[in-house]
Amino acid sequence: MRPALVLAYHGLGTFPKTLDPHNLMLDPARFRRQVLTLMRRRYGFVTLSELVEHLDRGTPPDGVCALTFDDGTADNVELLAPLLEELEIPATVFACPGLLGADHFAMPAAARVRLMDAGQLRALACSPLVDIGSHTSTHVDLSSATGEEAYEEMASSKRALEDLLQRPVNFFAYPKCGYSPSCPDAARRAGYLAAVTCAGLGGWRRFELTRVSIDSLDRRLSFALKSRGLFAPLRNSPPGKLARALARPLRHHGAD
Ligand SMILES: [Zn+2]
Repeated sequence: MRPALVLAYHGLGTFPKTLDPHNLMLDPARFRRQVLTLMRRRYGFVTLSELVEHLDRGTPPDGVCALTFDDGTADNVELLAPLLEELEIPATVFACPGLLGADHFAMPAAARVRLMDAGQLRALACSPLVDIGSHTSTHVDLSSATGEEAYEEMASSKRALEDLLQRPVNFFAYPKCGYSPSCPDAARRAGYLAAVTCAGLGGWRRFELTRVSIDSLDRRLSFALKSRGLFAPLRNSPPGKLARALARPLRHHGAD
């Protein structure tokens, strides 16, 4: 029960539910506990590059985990980078070069969650433990994009980040996990080594790599199930559906 994992996070921070309606911001202490849990299960933390190298020979081996963070929130440099250093583990951060320094597009204004500005993104990229990938220029949903639209978005955001960071940008994350059938080939043509999705989509194919999303609602049990590949099957089983129906009035409906 130690499947290879690519975990998909957003930001780190402690917010009340009203300020984080989509459950994007994870308590840093909880993130730390999740990493330590995987370490106890003898997971080795690898870069996306290292994980992707295995794809040439089939699927990644059991017991490897790559961490990813979407959107490029400012806490990635303020909170995440020191934690990665302390834990001595790498991560990939997917940023939108057209939104640098903006308020987070999916968070209430009162939460004051900002995306990294150019200086912060450059500072984060200096960490030997952090790789920066593209998440489109402005968080564009590619789920119905033509091949040319997807290529243009992927190539221009790659170029913008490479100009800013003066280093190759090799990975791409589909905003909201969505991608049209033309997207994987567009990502290859745009020069990426791999592209990642989530929300139960994809597999171990290089340009539609599956990720397990972890959000602020995940506690010990759901994290244990998700990291063993058991969460979705259980969630969709008759007892899982019944439990969710019963819990629904108690839970705010969040986005993936
Ligand atoms: Zn996103």
